[in-house]
Amino acid sequence: MLSLLSEVEDCESEIIRIRRYVHANPELTYKEFETAKLVAEKLRSLGIEVKTGVGGTGVVGLLKSKRDGNVVGLRADMDALPVVENVDVPFRSKNEGVMHACGHDTHIAMLLGAAMLLAKHRDELRGAVKFLFQPAEEHGGRGGAKPMIEAGAMKDPKVDFVFGLHIDGDTPSRVFWLREGSILAAPDTFKIRIKGRGGHGSEPHKTIDPIFVSAQVIMALQGVSSRMIDQTEPFVVSVCSIHSGSKDNIIPDDAVLEGTIRTLNEHIRAQAKRNVQNVTRSVCRAFKATCEIDFMKDAYPVTVNDPKVAKRVFSILRTIKGTRTIEKKPILGGEDFSRFLQEAPGVFYFLGTRNPQKGCVHPNHSSKFKVDEDVLKYGSVSLAMLALEFGAAGQHSRAPRS
Ligand SMILES: [Zn+2]
Ligand SMILES: [Zn+2]
Repeated sequence: MLSLLSEVEDCESEIIRIRRYVHANPELTYKEFETAKLVAEKLRSLGIEVKTGVGGTGVVGLLKSKRDGNVVGLRADMDALPVVENVDVPFRSKNEGVMHACGHDTHIAMLLGAAMLLAKHRDELRGAVKFLFQPAEEHGGRGGAKPMIEAGAMKDPKVDFVFGLHIDGDTPSRVFWLREGSILAAPDTFKIRIKGRGGHGSEPHKTIDPIFVSAQVIMALQGVSSRMIDQTEPFVVSVCSIHSGSKDNIIPDDAVLEGTIRTLNEHIRAQAKRNVQNVTRSVCRAFKATCEIDFMKDAYPVTVNDPKVAKRVFSILRTIKGTRTIEKKPILGGEDFSRFLQEAPGVFYFLGTRNPQKGCVHPNHSSKFKVDEDVLKYGSVSLAMLALEFGAAGQHSRAPRS
């Protein structure tokens, strides 16, 4: 480990160079063409086998060792967000209106940094490392993980353990955090169309007022949260947009509500969705309105860290000098890394980058999001260590294959 920390000093400037290049040239969901090309070229230059066009613009690298062991998957996402960058740095986005505001540029750079370290340590490696560079994490529905898995990214050779690292603007620099079990939510979104019957604003009794019914539905949905779901289980329902009406004296025909529900367990998730539908239909029926309720298809599952793997990850990360590793409460954002975790046990973990002295104080997705680049080398070391340690997990008694 000590050697990895000193070796990463040699790669640090390259890691930062890659990060800045990708940051200056961000690409949106499923359009990560140039980014994927850069990733594939870098992996090939390290002697790593590469497949491109996996599930869209995904890239899979395979680094094999000569010794028996596990296959460890390490994942980075590559897409940027439709945000106008509001940070004054020399490598500001050249693609106006597109910004790496979630830090996926750093994920690419950190994973390529890990690849540089692991390629050097090929002889000490057991099993193999699969580098999973995925498109379209920010898609929200059909994110890039699912098509990559469908294209066989987790097979041949089958991935035994999988890890994903995310940069976190809310946590202090050089602090890793994770937890056992659920760490991120299932981010379901819904659209409710309430159909009434329009008319004159002065004669509501002759109409079925969809705006009034919408108000009742919004109130009743908070009752799902406070009166129908176990209060010890996190559950959020937020109606985030309402569209209806055209003029101050016309009762419109319909209203459209859109919102999101967040849950941390698949059982509660199913129950919450059922309750949202039942309550909405019942309230509409009470006032003679009808409704259509659609949940977005392919919403990401809950991101669940395998408890045993997480325990081991805690102890591995805690050996990295210059960093701290802590446990934190789950957050109700979503991640399609959850899909990789349905294929193999593993862990999703975070690395803090908040550093007020460098002006790195804004959260991910902000137009002012700024990363403390000094943390990147630690991210690379952590990924390389997980590959080395989990590649050898349970393999110590076996003789090396020559
Ligand atoms: Zn994001
Ligand atoms: Zn992200």
